[in-house]
Amino acid sequence: MSHDEMLAVSREAELDEWRRDNRFCGRCGAEMKPHDKPEERAFVCPLCGYTAYPKISPAVIVLVTKGDKVLLQRNTHYQGVVWSLVAGFVDPGESLEDAVCREIREEASIEVKDVRYFGSQTWPFPSNIMIGFRAEYVSGELKPDGEEVIESGWFDRDHLPEIPRPGSIARAMLDAWKNEINLVSEGS
Ligand SMILES: [Zn+2]
Repeated sequence: MSHDEMLAVSREAELDEWRRDNRFCGRCGAEMKPHDKPEERAFVCPLCGYTAYPKISPAVIVLVTKGDKVLLQRNTHYQGVVWSLVAGFVDPGESLEDAVCREIREEASIEVKDVRYFGSQTWPFPSNIMIGFRAEYVSGELKPDGEEVIESGWFDRDHLPEIPRPGSIARAMLDAWKNEINLVSEGS
């Protein structure tokens, strides 16, 4: 599938999920109707007027570096032995930067600085967007939380364990980091 086809399929899957979840009004329980204007992608409650738009849940994913090493961890969510980056949902009332620092603190028990935006990827399982960041280690000893994260470690580019497949933002971030290290070592 091309990138555009993937996006179209993702979008439809998210909207299907949203339609299924919004058949009845979350406020008064009446049956919802599509908005009068077809270009308004929304359901409206004919009784109380509540309007439901598609909701997207933001999650942050972070590539943490310590010198020329990267933080990878093994997560209970993944099958097998894939190692990946720190990731988690943004809490209500929290900035993306705060979510980055909190997730790293919770999952790895370390502090970071220089949080910088990398890019984002829609993640329709069911309706998320992954927002990628880079950050640099400041202090603390790696300590996996034991619940979500089973194992964590610092890896250099020549000794990476099994990492996520191409097509994921985690892989794109790791590839970008590896290329950057290649450029540095070629230039020296
Ligand atoms: Zn209602």
